[in-house]
Amino acid sequence: MTRLARGAAALASLLAAGMVPASAPLAAQSSHGLNRTERATVQAVDRHNAQALALLVRLVDMNSGTMNFKGVRAVGDVLRAQFDSLGFTTRWVDGTPFQRAGHLVAEHKGPGPKILIIGHLDTVFEPSSPFQKFEKLNDSTARGPGVIDMKGGDVIALYALRALKDAGALDRMNVVVVYHGDEEDSGTPLSLARKTLIDAAQGATAALGFEDGAGDPRTAVISRRGDLGWTLNITGTPAHSSQIFTKDVGAGAIFETSRILHQFYDSLSTEKYLTFNPGLALGGTTVTIDTTETVGSANGKTNVVAKTMIVPGDLRALSPAQESATEATMRRIVARHLPNTEASITFHDGYPPMAPTDGNRKLLAMYDQASRDVGSTPVVAVDPSRAGAADISFVANIVPMNIDALGLAGSDDHTDKETANLNTLPVKTKRAAILLYRLTNPTK
Ligand SMILES: [Zn+2]
Repeated sequence: MTRLARGAAALASLLAAGMVPASAPLAAQSSHGLNRTERATVQAVDRHNAQALALLVRLVDMNSGTMNFKGVRAVGDVLRAQFDSLGFTTRWVDGTPFQRAGHLVAEHKGPGPKILIIGHLDTVFEPSSPFQKFEKLNDSTARGPGVIDMKGGDVIALYALRALKDAGALDRMNVVVVYHGDEEDSGTPLSLARKTLIDAAQGATAALGFEDGAGDPRTAVISRRGDLGWTLNITGTPAHSSQIFTKDVGAGAIFETSRILHQFYDSLSTEKYLTFNPGLALGGTTVTIDTTETVGSANGKTNVVAKTMIVPGDLRALSPAQESATEATMRRIVARHLPNTEASITFHDGYPPMAPTDGNRKLLAMYDQASRDVGSTPVVAVDPSRAGAADISFVANIVPMNIDALGLAGSDDHTDKETANLNTLPVKTKRAAILLYRLTNPTK
């Protein structure tokens, strides 16, 4: 029986006996659920909190915009020294092959089940941004570039491990930490940029992501949609417009595109958690588009049947099954063809979906129980449509249990109002530490 099931069963029997009002805060019911090592771990988190905050300030004050390779590396070096001091084996993975700064990897090989910790060193704020420094707004809030996305999460994971070391619990732990240098703007080719993470995920029991998530510490992420790109290429038979619809000329590229997009909409637009969006459409006699598929030009005349059309779009699905079924439907629709037209669709690399599996739910239940046991709130899964893309998606189909949003909570990431709720720093560090401990020392 899991801790959650045990706690819930105990609470249910108390409720049935009329011993506690149904509205009693759950945290109070189970605040004695910590064993001696866990209590020592929680105390160590409190002891180190000022130090953790000082490290966070130091890291936020160092610019590490994704394309500022020196800055990303410098943030990596600071964290690397911290992991070294905990006895981890650390290395820097050079990012030259995928045109980014690189990644920090820190490993601790104990006898316990392997746990993967995921973070990132980079932020969306390049050196050209006016937003560069940590600024305390009051006792419990601070503004700063990357303070929640996700230098706060990086510090939380580190100090959870530090507390476990203090409590004598780190020796048994088998942990691999991967902090990417290019989460906000992934390197290319993507397969190379994510190879380190995917290699690290092999054999792992659980993957823990320390992103800020939806900003509410009462939620965590156990599923998020994937994000793929696609491009439609359509050709027609150019001719004088007076001959359109004849046997020799047919429908032209623009009518064929219109048919395809309309059938995409009719067949797929009401499916839950599925979205797809054509973001640009260029059609006519000649068309150009740049390699980023965001800028282009088209020429055509009303009295000429369109020869060509190009439409780039995106596709977000909740599970690999939904994604592949959607791709198959889109391919089927594209293959039909109006008279004298040709069309093809290609799908591009992106973030794979993180499906809401039983394993992920089990890990959430453990995290929820850890939260209650350290005196914090229950934690539920956030709606996947509110969960943005993150690197844990690349391992969610490899690792049996995955959870994200274990990082510092706050609001307005990716803007110059990015604000942290500093009260969540010790709380989220405790939760993470207890979860790591229980994953390493399961009670069955
Ligand atoms: Zn992030």
